[in-house]
Amino acid sequence: MGIYDFYRRDVTEEAMAEMPTAGAAVTADTAPPVAAGGEKTRSSAPLPVSQDKPAALKLIREDIGDCTRCRLHKGRTKLVFGVGNVNAELMFIGEGPGADEDAQGEPFVGRAGQLLNNMISAMGLKREDVYIANVVKCRPPGNRTPEKDECDTCSPFLMRQIEVIRPKVIVALGAVAAKNLLAVNDSMANLRGRWYDFKDSKLLVTYHPAYLLRDPRQKKEAWKDLQMAMKYLGLEPPKKPSAE
Ligand code: URA
Repeated sequence: MGIYDFYRRDVTEEAMAEMPTAGAAVTADTAPPVAAGGEKTRSSAPLPVSQDKPAALKLIREDIGDCTRCRLHKGRTKLVFGVGNVNAELMFIGEGPGADEDAQGEPFVGRAGQLLNNMISAMGLKREDVYIANVVKCRPPGNRTPEKDECDTCSPFLMRQIEVIRPKVIVALGAVAAKNLLAVNDSMANLRGRWYDFKDSKLLVTYHPAYLLRDPRQKKEAWKDLQMAMKYLGLEPPKKPSAE
């Protein structure tokens, strides 16, 4: 997949082509942001129920149940809850499941998911290190953009997931995720390239992998966004394997 090509040479267009053809801070929540380099140690003692993250996520999943709260349930094969490390410092939030995700019940498993995996690898992480979820948990028909009422119905569950995971950094993938999380209506050009305070996390916006598949020249810009996250999290890109 050429993950190294995601960042090599500051991500030239040539390198990106090798990827699979694939004022005041806007504050979505008044809670103070986590301090840079925040809490690092985690106790190995049993957690109280309120901090037992798998149990807390299970409860959210149970509350969603066999959801019929919005019209998206009608075309659903599998509800796509979210996947990943409950202790992740980095959380990616997309728009909503596509056909592959609907079939498998897991976010970002299709072509856009392959590119997201490469982006995660280019950051020096594995997919299992991060947590991945979507604004809506059921596939919009024909992959249309989810409607506002569908997002409003589903996002309380996403908010609860974020409150449980408490990642240091949230990356909103694309305009739908960004606008819903930040409750703003702005262009991607204006939304990208800066930090937002969001609950106990820092949030930044980058292009959706599906958009990057359509316009690979923008991978260079997406890599700049991911580098902001890496700097904040103290991550280094993986070393390029030697030619031997
Ligand atoms: N696009 C998304 O926004 N989410 C997915 O899970 C897959 C594709």
